[in-house]
Amino acid sequence: MADKLNLEVITPERLVLREAVDEVVIPGLGGELGILPEHTPLISQLQTGILVYRKGAERQQMHVSGGFAEVGPDRVSVLSDVAEKPEEIDAERAQRARERAEKRLSSRGEDTDFQRAELKLQRALIRIQLADKG
Ligand code: ATP
Repeated sequence: MADKLNLEVITPERLVLREAVDEVVIPGLGGELGILPEHTPLISQLQTGILVYRKGAERQQMHVSGGFAEVGPDRVSVLSDVAEKPEEIDAERAQRARERAEKRLSSRGEDTDFQRAELKLQRALIRIQLADKG
C-alpha cells in the first residue's frame, strides 16, 4: 500500500516540481479533486486555478492552467500549459496582464479574441492572489 504520492508538475518548458507528498487537491474542469494515496486511477482536465499539495501539516499552493492530471495509486502527474510556485510569480507583471485583459474585454473590438482575453485575465487574477504568499 502506497502511503505517499509522487507529485510531478511539468510544463512544455520545464519540470516545475517533483516531490513526495501526502495529499493533492487538483483544480479539475468539473471542480476540485482531492487525491490521497491509493486513489482510483483517473485522468482529469485542468482549469486555471490553484493546485494544493500537503506534506504533513505543511500546505503549499501553485498556479496551474490548462492541460491535465493523471492519477495513479502512488502518483499524480500534472502536465500543464503553465505552472508557477508563488515565489516564482512576478506580481507587477500579473497586474499589467490583468489591466490589458480587462481593457480588451471591455473594448468590444471586432477583432478581440474574448476567449483568449478571458483566459489571460483568469491567469492574472490567480497569479495576483498567489504572489502575496510567495
Ligand atoms: P504576459 O503578457 O505578462 O507575458 P501571459 O498571460 O501572456 O502574461 P502566459 O501565456 O500565461 O503569460 O505564460 C507565458 C509564460 O510566462 C509561462 O511560462 C508563465 O509561467 C510565465 N509567466 C506569465 N506571467 C507571469 C508572472 N506574472 N510571473 C511569472 N511568470 C509568468
